[in-house]
Amino acid sequence: MKFNGTTGGIDIAFRNLIAGLYSQDLSDKVRSGKDTKTRSGKVIATYPTYGYDKDPSDHHKFVLNPKESAIVKRVFDLAAEGVSVAEIIRILNADNVPTMQASKQEKGFKTKWGRGDCWGRWVISKMLRDEQYTGKLIWGKTRVVALGSREIATVPRSEWIIVPGAIPAIVTNEQFELVQKKLAEKSKPHRNEREHKPVFYRNIKCGDCGRAMSYRARKNGMGLYLCTMHLLSDKYVCKTGKIEERDLYDAVLKTIQVQAALAITEKTLQKSKTADLLNTADAICGKIRAMQISIEKVKAQKVSLWEQLYGAKITRDKYHKENEKLTARIAEYEKTISALEADARKIELDSGQENIFVERYSKFSNIQSLTREMVNELVKEIRVYSPDRIEIVMNYADEFEKLQSSLPN
Ligand SMILES: [Zn+2]
Repeated sequence: MKFNGTTGGIDIAFRNLIAGLYSQDLSDKVRSGKDTKTRSGKVIATYPTYGYDKDPSDHHKFVLNPKESAIVKRVFDLAAEGVSVAEIIRILNADNVPTMQASKQEKGFKTKWGRGDCWGRWVISKMLRDEQYTGKLIWGKTRVVALGSREIATVPRSEWIIVPGAIPAIVTNEQFELVQKKLAEKSKPHRNEREHKPVFYRNIKCGDCGRAMSYRARKNGMGLYLCTMHLLSDKYVCKTGKIEERDLYDAVLKTIQVQAALAITEKTLQKSKTADLLNTADAICGKIRAMQISIEKVKAQKVSLWEQLYGAKITRDKYHKENEKLTARIAEYEKTISALEADARKIELDSGQENIFVERYSKFSNIQSLTREMVNELVKEIRVYSPDRIEIVMNYADEFEKLQSSLPN
């Protein structure tokens, strides 16, 4: 369903998709088993890190993938010469170097993100900071923040499990350190000292190319989002433009407020509906009791009829006729009772139903500001088509649809 609303001059095409199902993070038990294996130098990752293959004779070992490791080496060489990340990406894309995603697909890996038609900033930045390329096996760098969260937290280096020399090196320690120094020189200072922390986490997507938009911070207050893909590859000509973080923030806040108000309305409706249902259930029970009394009465009539026959007050013929009528009446009453009982069971089921949408949203009824946790729980993604046209995709969508169909007009 589509909900078209306006807030602060932005048209919001608001569409609900199927609620995101988040797989549970590994249990502590599984994790500690994996820790032990890693400590003994065994590779436990399901898929090898880019640049490597799994050793066909030992699945707990990595061997070099010649094509991929050459690309990793090239990226590090360029970075060590002081070439910027954006420039490295431009070079790879201009040379039509197969992307990481394309390699993964060729190997038949199931991957969750990226489109694979072009190298992106995130992949290269991550590659250049991946210490594994110096031959160290590393486990436990990140962890999912909370059950059901998409947010990944960085674990302090002191808690990582690092086994040097456990996998083949692609770059030397010296080159890796040099690259880290060059990256640090280029990165913007005071990044962590900024007062404002954006609430959106990689879920602002460019409506043209579908990739996550880049965040540009400002010295004070909120920043802005823009698609930078056209800077990285000629294949991209996104016309999305820049969108103010303030506008996104206000639109999402307004959307959640509207949804929460709807959830509260529904909650009230459900309460009175439940009360109505209970009254109806009481009435049905009363009817069933009355029917049972009627059956008892008819049974008494049958006894009296038999007594009349026994006292020779009626003929055998008349007795059979009358008795048949009474038996039919009892059968009719019993049929009515089972129909009433079926109604009662249905009411019991209806009154026990809880709507997840109502449950999730009603607790946000009085919010005046957004938090990252709230955005993670409720917002699947936001597609930006232009600075004045966005689409907010919310979670718990199928539940919302159920609710929409049950609301009175
Ligand atoms: Zn784009």
